[in-house]
Amino acid sequence: MTIMVPTTCPFCGHTTYIQCDKDAYDRWQNGMSIQDAMPDMTPEDREMLISGICPSCWDDMFGEEDEDEDDDLDWEDDCDEEPLWDECGFNPYMGCYDFDC
Ligand SMILES: [Zn+2]
Repeated sequence: MTIMVPTTCPFCGHTTYIQCDKDAYDRWQNGMSIQDAMPDMTPEDREMLISGICPSCWDDMFGEEDEDEDDDLDWEDDCDEEPLWDECGFNPYMGCYDFDC
């Protein structure tokens, strides 16, 4: 059977539901490595299950080969309506796990 697993993005707090097979999910929860437990899932979906990072934040971090580390202003476009990270020194390369900042 298929279940929807909720994951919460550590960057923007967005909840994403990931569709996966319950047996596979149980195997993973029981200690099997996620690659072995869910061989049919895309690496992106597996990574989302592990990290909870939503697709837009994922794209911001890994979707494009952006070598300019100072170019962090486009981070705010996709992640959230409230780009508060720049006020609290959020570093998109380090991550920010404080939703209130
Ligand atoms: Zn996000």
